[in-house]
Amino acid sequence: MFSFDEPTKNIFMLQIKRFVFNPFQVNTYVVYDETKACVIIDAACSDRSEEEALEQFISDNQLKPVQILNTHNHIDHILGNAFVAEKYSLPVTAHPDGARYMNNAFAHAQSFGLNLTKVTEPTLKIEDGDWISFGNSKLKVLFAPGHADGSVCFYDDTTPFVIAGDVLFYQSIGRTDLPGGDYDVLKESIWSKLFVLPDETIVYPGHGPQTTIGSEKINNPFVAIG
Ligand SMILES: [Zn+2]
Ligand SMILES: [Zn+2]
Repeated sequence: MFSFDEPTKNIFMLQIKRFVFNPFQVNTYVVYDETKACVIIDAACSDRSEEEALEQFISDNQLKPVQILNTHNHIDHILGNAFVAEKYSLPVTAHPDGARYMNNAFAHAQSFGLNLTKVTEPTLKIEDGDWISFGNSKLKVLFAPGHADGSVCFYDDTTPFVIAGDVLFYQSIGRTDLPGGDYDVLKESIWSKLFVLPDETIVYPGHGPQTTIGSEKINNPFVAIG
């Protein structure tokens, strides 16, 4: 599943479909290539109508899901993990530093009034610099803590784009007041892992609209390198 050697660039442009799920308005991304193999990033559907929207898109496009990827294990991002994992018999992949959020998932769900009946533990561990392979494509894992322990971003160096989770948003950054959060660590992650990517890299964040690395380097009020 993983390759530790730097591969050649993806030959075809990856396709991305965004869903906005659950009361926290989490962006769930389905990323797929010409083979129809897909990964589902932050499977966050939380009720039957959201599950059906995801299922419908996958069946309409004849996609073959191969893996669930968690940018981090905050409760709002993992609400649909168990449903998607069971429906398509998929492993869940996450960075091991985020394990503690899984241990507290039910308590967190309850405290936010969210509906969580089941969790699926990540069984595949990823580290900084790993490449995740599916179909003819690959995404690079960028370890980017500071918002949550075990936060990662997923980078496609061909388009290029980065799935940023709650690390970097359009003119904002992830909150740092939750357990595992640290502003200085987050700023360092953004500068050393994201702002070194090409300016034209499209940023697909965990909440809200897309942006680009170049735009955030200039306009982001929290981390711009003015
Ligand atoms: Zn988060
Ligand atoms: Zn979030």
